[in-house]
Amino acid sequence: MAAAQTRAVMAALADGGGTARFVGGCVRNSLLGRPVDDIDIATTLQPDATMAALEAAGIKAIATGIEHGTVTAVTGKMRFEITTLRRDAESFGRKARVEYTDDWEEDAARRDFTFNALYCDADGALFDPFEGRKDLKAGRVRFVGSPVARLQEDYLRAFRYFRFLAWYGRPPPDEAAIDAIALAAPHLNGLSGERVQKEMLRLLEAEDPTAAAALMHTQGVLVHWLPESDNATRLPALLRIERANALTPDAVRRLAALLADDIDVGALAERWKLSRAMRARLEAAVADEPRIVDLGGKAMRALVYRVGNETATDRLVLHAARAGIGAAHPALAAGLAIVRDWQAPKLPLAGADVLELGVAAGADVGRLLDTIEEWWIAGDFAADRSACLAELKRARVQEKGR
Ligand code: ATP
Ligand code: MG
Repeated sequence: MAAAQTRAVMAALADGGGTARFVGGCVRNSLLGRPVDDIDIATTLQPDATMAALEAAGIKAIATGIEHGTVTAVTGKMRFEITTLRRDAESFGRKARVEYTDDWEEDAARRDFTFNALYCDADGALFDPFEGRKDLKAGRVRFVGSPVARLQEDYLRAFRYFRFLAWYGRPPPDEAAIDAIALAAPHLNGLSGERVQKEMLRLLEAEDPTAAAALMHTQGVLVHWLPESDNATRLPALLRIERANALTPDAVRRLAALLADDIDVGALAERWKLSRAMRARLEAAVADEPRIVDLGGKAMRALVYRVGNETATDRLVLHAARAGIGAAHPALAAGLAIVRDWQAPKLPLAGADVLELGVAAGADVGRLLDTIEEWWIAGDFAADRSACLAELKRARVQEKGR
């Protein structure tokens, strides 16, 4: 937030005649000394004035969400979401209709949790209308205003509650919030899959999302959105494996660890509007075969060859978590070293080699290649091109003899 580009954006907004303050995650995380990945700015300037102020300072401005008052400033590799102060013109039980305002308290009152309504100006002065800093220090995720009312305005806040609980919370959770969420649970079905997905994946990226996920379960938040989730979750075991082996936390893999066996990934993907890539990843991760627990190096390499490094990693750690093998087990570490470092070679034969032996183009070519490929895999990829060619000839002769 002290970077030259950031200062330039703040100065541009001031020169444009407005007041600007950092808000939300960047303020929260800097108070905690945690890394800040995106910077949100709130300003009294209206969107067109924001655009003009940025352009006057030679900063690229994009109208990314102009209908809700957001302009994105881009300087170098940094992006800033700049949003005009807003207040709810109508709320309570309806989709909020918002209006611009120049009252910081009104803008703060629309935000979900006290520590998300923290603002800080370019000089570092904090504006903290709801004692969010105190809550942040205490690990208390507290709604701004009445939890029941704030949930009725936007039921997504139930998911956001658990997301922030996982990242910043310390037990026990706020009772008023938990009770209000239980009341809200039957109303969560109508939310959009994309919004729920985003909050859930963010939640799963927390250092240890286990307690938050378990609480979501007991509060009925997952009844509609994740009925596939298993009470006998593998998540704690997966987290131990991640820690013991310095694996980067991965939300999709952690999601897989929450799922019961034999679930319909397609239904989940549809409900959460998962991308094609995520769906494929999840399907591959939970596929049953082969059951890898303490495979040797050879079988591990065969798996990497067949499914790729990422899926092999997913299956290895998920099966290990299921089987309850120790997080620091040497066989697991050895398997992980392979899925991390080993690059599958290419079969040193092609269809042309088969045709050259006089096999007619068609299904036979593929079948012969498959046979050699299986032989090559079974030999731990040791055979080079000439050995593979020799084996191909042998297999061909043998077939003809049948
Ligand atoms: P992160 O570091 O994960 O980006 P964040 O607090 O910036 O955390 P965002 O989802 O980017 O979270 O939202 C930015 C800010 O907008 C929040 O801090 C909060 O003040 C407000 N906000 C976002 N979504 C809602 C919501 N559904 N209801 C009320 N306020 C919200
Ligand atoms: Mg943010």
